[in-house]
Amino acid sequence: MITCDVAVIGTGGVGSAALYYLAKSGTKVIGLDRFTPPHAHGSSHGQTRVIRLAYFEHPDYVPLLRQAYQAWNELETASNRQLYFPTGVLQIGSPEGVVVRGIRQSAELHQLSVDSFSHEEIRQTFPGIVPPEGHVGMLERDAGYLLVSDCIDAYLNLAKQHGAELKTETTVHSWTYRDGQYDLETNGELIHAKQIVVCGGAWAAQLMTDLKVPLQVLRKHLYWYENDFDGYRHDSQFPVFLFETKAGIYYGFPQIDDYGVKLARHDQGQPIATPADHSQDEDLDDRLQVETFVKSCLPKLSTRLTRQAACMYTMTPDENFLLGTHPEHEGLHFAAGLSGHGFKFASALGQILSDLAIDGQTSSPIEFLSPGRFS
Ligand SMILES: Cc1cc2nc3c(=O)[nH]c(=O)nc-3n(C[C@H](O)[C@H](O)[C@H](O)COP(=O)(O)OP(=O)(O)OC[C@H]3O[C@@H](n4cnc5c(N)ncnc54)[C@H](O)[C@@H]3O)c2cc1C
Repeated sequence: MITCDVAVIGTGGVGSAALYYLAKSGTKVIGLDRFTPPHAHGSSHGQTRVIRLAYFEHPDYVPLLRQAYQAWNELETASNRQLYFPTGVLQIGSPEGVVVRGIRQSAELHQLSVDSFSHEEIRQTFPGIVPPEGHVGMLERDAGYLLVSDCIDAYLNLAKQHGAELKTETTVHSWTYRDGQYDLETNGELIHAKQIVVCGGAWAAQLMTDLKVPLQVLRKHLYWYENDFDGYRHDSQFPVFLFETKAGIYYGFPQIDDYGVKLARHDQGQPIATPADHSQDEDLDDRLQVETFVKSCLPKLSTRLTRQAACMYTMTPDENFLLGTHPEHEGLHFAAGLSGHGFKFASALGQILSDLAIDGQTSSPIEFLSPGRFS
């Protein structure tokens, strides 16, 4: 039997950050994970994740993003590793579309610097891009990508240095709350914790069966394509890109290694009942849609596939996160339903979960992410 102040269940993207902040504050904390993070079985793998500030999804995320940028910067300093690469992010869409209108709204409300590009200016500045007719571009320079596995690895190493215990290949089968503490039944020892922080990613619904908000897990795919055009390379200042087209939302990254250019479709995805139904199998239909996008908008890129991966999104009904303290269980704090856009926030979410466990409150503006919005 192990006892601790806080047990973090799931030490992937968010849980690794929470473990670090709890350990750094001197809390007796243990991290538990069914695999050995960073791993390729959940939602935090596949080399890179986009980070951007002028958030088209909802302007209320901007203060949390500012906090996240600051915290990633602190992680780079503490670990002495470069984790964030400020390539800029170019987002292309119709002026009336969700993306361009959302960026303009966030930028205006939060006084953010975003450069507008006409159709012609995009073509002149980025010779490898052919935007759909009538589309414009928004270039955010203080944006780019994070190395996803390296971030998790850095947090876990630092957490251990600060005294966290990490138990990998340890699945939490169930928890019960009794006499002011949580008993966690695992495939190993029984764990007693005064509080728990649940960061189970695609497994969140199994860990919080009474959350009362439906979570839908989607299988999503990532593709890398061979490239011999210098204009798509990181060292040629090619930015991360996202296109909102009539045929869907596609995004990708400048080439950073021999696998070429990484691309994916952001909307749609294959619903699965539980993460146990996930597999790395290819979805040919999805792949052909990505390749149709490549041929029309990135015509200098080949469609010779060098690598592919599958990953999971965990969607809430409104595609905004669930974050906070459980309304019915004192001492249970969670981040769930990150809806395919959560990694960039992981550093801030880790801080917030640590604040909730240590102080019972946070000064970060997270009310709009409360599960109470669905009741
Ligand atoms: C293809 C793809 C592309 C994406 N692109 C972006 C992007 O560009 N930018 C962005 O910001 N976000 C992006 N996202 C979303 C982002 O990656 C996720 O929101 C984020 O990584 C989820 O982190 P998490 O900690 O919730 O889940 P995970 O990192 O999956 O962590 C959950 C952990 O919980 C563990 N676990 C689960 N159940 C148990 C249990 N019972 N006992 C013990 N351990 C357990 C798992 O093993 C896992 O390690 C993308 C996601 C995908 C799939």
